[in-house]
Amino acid sequence: LYNSLMRHEKMETVSHFAAAVSHELRNPLQSVKGFVQLLQVYEYPRAKQLEFQQTILDEIKAAEELIDDYLIYAKPVYGEMKHLEVEAELSHVIKIMSPYANARNVELLVKRGNSLSPILGDSQKFHQALVNIIRNSVEAMPDGGKLEIELETSGSSICVHIQDEGVGMTKEQVNRLGEPYFSNKSKGTGLGLMVTYSIVDQMSGEISVQSELGKGTRFTLEFPKLTK
Ligand code: ADP
Ligand code: MG
Repeated sequence: LYNSLMRHEKMETVSHFAAAVSHELRNPLQSVKGFVQLLQVYEYPRAKQLEFQQTILDEIKAAEELIDDYLIYAKPVYGEMKHLEVEAELSHVIKIMSPYANARNVELLVKRGNSLSPILGDSQKFHQALVNIIRNSVEAMPDGGKLEIELETSGSSICVHIQDEGVGMTKEQVNRLGEPYFSNKSKGTGLGLMVTYSIVDQMSGEISVQSELGKGTRFTLEFPKLTK
């Protein structure tokens, strides 16, 4: 509860968030513009041209990452809440994320529960919430590894477990998850989990995290079951 309250307070500081994000998008865009203009005006040696082109690509990638983590969140908060079949939604997410995981030597293992009831949510946002967790899990295993995704029905709730065997986190780090701009990555946005926590909150779900440094991390998303 304490964490959830903290997060709500922090979310308020995020009311100027759209402005902050567009500001951050402006930086990479401006730098792309600058380099393209330079390339138009001067005849640089080939090596210099290639260097500038690489910088342009890097800046575009930075902008894309910001958009990936944030864009769906920026949609109206009260998007349509529908009955979602968790298994089908999960299959979709796994299809999207497979190439990303494969390219990084991460093996996706999926354990599906049976006879699952639906949950309430917006399909696209639910995808975004899962994608942001899965992307982190893959990134936590720079040398590859196993990523297990498990669906579980228990009593009145449905759980999605996402477990990696990556770098893990300290208690302090776990407590800061979901805080805007909290990132331990050189090129992280620190927005991915803020978006995830907010979406899961909107779905009346809960997130719990178990992690051990050097061992791995397990995210559990728990949602109330709907009776059909
Ligand atoms: P970003 O990925 O841009 O850094 P996130 O909000 O997605 O921002 O994640 C915040 C931080 O939480 C990450 O920088 C990372 O340090 C930590 N983190 C999240 N998921 C994991 C994980 N599965 N294993 C280890 N650390 C994680
Ligand atoms: Mg992330």
